[in-house]
Amino acid sequence: MKRRSFLKMSCCLGAGLALSGLGLTLAPVAAYADDMKKADALRTAVQSTTVCCYCSVGCGLICSVDKASGKIFNIEGDPEHPVNEGALCAKGAGLYQVSAANEHRLMKVLYRKPGSDKWEEKDWNFAISRIAELMKKERDKSFIVNNEKGQMVNRVQTMSLMGSSNVLSEECWATTQFARGLGFTYIDHQARV
Ligand code: SF4
Repeated sequence: MKRRSFLKMSCCLGAGLALSGLGLTLAPVAAYADDMKKADALRTAVQSTTVCCYCSVGCGLICSVDKASGKIFNIEGDPEHPVNEGALCAKGAGLYQVSAANEHRLMKVLYRKPGSDKWEEKDWNFAISRIAELMKKERDKSFIVNNEKGQMVNRVQTMSLMGSSNVLSEECWATTQFARGLGFTYIDHQARV
């Protein structure tokens, strides 16, 4: 940490302690101290540039990796990238959360029975079979063959497909065909929401 930064942080901490004695919150001081720590880490990090995987805008990113642990600790917009000039939408700004460095990232299937307050760990076979079972049940119940004018429509209006911008064009095509084949009419994409 540079001398100037150290003095700034010391002043803020001193002021914060004085304010806390008057019953005022120290939260802004703690946030400032965290920012200073992050700024120091960024100065010594290994940085590499990449492109956001989510949509065809292709925003540029800078990933910072801690030299000691080898782990990513920050991802932000690249100000020198011609497409986004440092700006990111909410999905791009949250990319760090899907990296392996996020210890809260979901890695397994968690299932909670209707009415239960407990989560159970399950495998993917369970999850896929359960989704298929519920979809079939719902489709059998609500499939509409003819509309009110007697025209054949073969549709389901009680389920929808929300696509992911994290999939390829071919995967989008396959999932859309699958959904249309089942009679879905509500098909959308998260990038549009
Ligand atoms: S998802 Fe957002 S951040 Fe990522 S490329 Fe698209 S617009 Fe840029």
